[in-house]
Amino acid sequence: MRAMVFERSGQPLRMADLPVPRPGKGQLLIRVRACAVCRTDLHVVDGELTQPKLPLIPGHEIVGTVAEKGDGVARFEIGDRVGIPWLGWSCGECSYCRAGQENLCGQAKFTGYTLDGGYAEYTVADQRFCFPIPDLYSDAEAAPLLCAGLIGYRSLVKAGAGKRLGIYGFGAAAHIVAQVAKYQKREIYAFTRPGDEEAKKFALGLGATWAGGSNETPPVKLDAAIIFAPAGELIPQALRTVGKGGIVVCGGIHMSDIPSFPYSLLWEERSICSVANLTRRDGEEFLALAPHVPVRTEVQTFRLEQANEALARLRSGKIQGAAVLVTTAANSEASL
Ligand SMILES: [Zn+2]
Ligand SMILES: [Zn+2]
Repeated sequence: MRAMVFERSGQPLRMADLPVPRPGKGQLLIRVRACAVCRTDLHVVDGELTQPKLPLIPGHEIVGTVAEKGDGVARFEIGDRVGIPWLGWSCGECSYCRAGQENLCGQAKFTGYTLDGGYAEYTVADQRFCFPIPDLYSDAEAAPLLCAGLIGYRSLVKAGAGKRLGIYGFGAAAHIVAQVAKYQKREIYAFTRPGDEEAKKFALGLGATWAGGSNETPPVKLDAAIIFAPAGELIPQALRTVGKGGIVVCGGIHMSDIPSFPYSLLWEERSICSVANLTRRDGEEFLALAPHVPVRTEVQTFRLEQANEALARLRSGKIQGAAVLVTTAANSEASL
């Protein structure tokens, strides 16, 4: 199979010809149809996440079809369309797993980080961590739901039920969260890179009540803010925009250092929290909700071999919505 392989940070991914993996006990072999490109992939290839398996096939927003079943697989059939998210495995026994917090499991394995992912024509996945994909979506449209959607949804739940919601960084996750929040009759206040008129238009087009630069102050105090951009200086800025009791949720896996700020910004029971990974329950809830909203994803598709280009465009903020790698059927069906 063809795969884009990460070997060392600072080096582009390398197109490689690899053997198709074999599904182990309880695993599915998935013919990958689409894999979205997440900011976390950038943190991996840029060396900001320091514990990847090497060499690594990145990608954790995978949509594909079941090509083969390992021993003991009863949940899916050959040909079923499934999604594979970031959480690829958890121990099921530790105190976190038993408390419904498998996202915090110390032994958890992550797709496209500590397990090979979806920048390839095939991948294997533990059936228990795969989700059926709603029929409403094409493969490419569904792919961003698997991380931008799930992590966005988890962030939205953490933000509480307040009506006025700020969103910093209007990329893949934000464009999904904004639709869910609108559906829940909330108001969206979109913060973009200062001067990024395109991003403002994009946010207003998705129904934002207000859009401005991250250095601007909206006309009203917000109940909560979610930060998807990996910039620590946004935390004190976001604290300034939320009212008493407001919460600032950090939705990303990595952020630059947070500058010091006066306690008065946190005073009056404002709080800051992070979102780490996802649970299968997040996935089930979100994928059940998405077709009802209905969440529509805006995608820019690239061929598998264009993965480096897709990453570069994401790094420079040139992707509107989500970048998705699609693997064409023609030159891959023959490889099994
Ligand atoms: Zn992701
Ligand atoms: Zn565990």
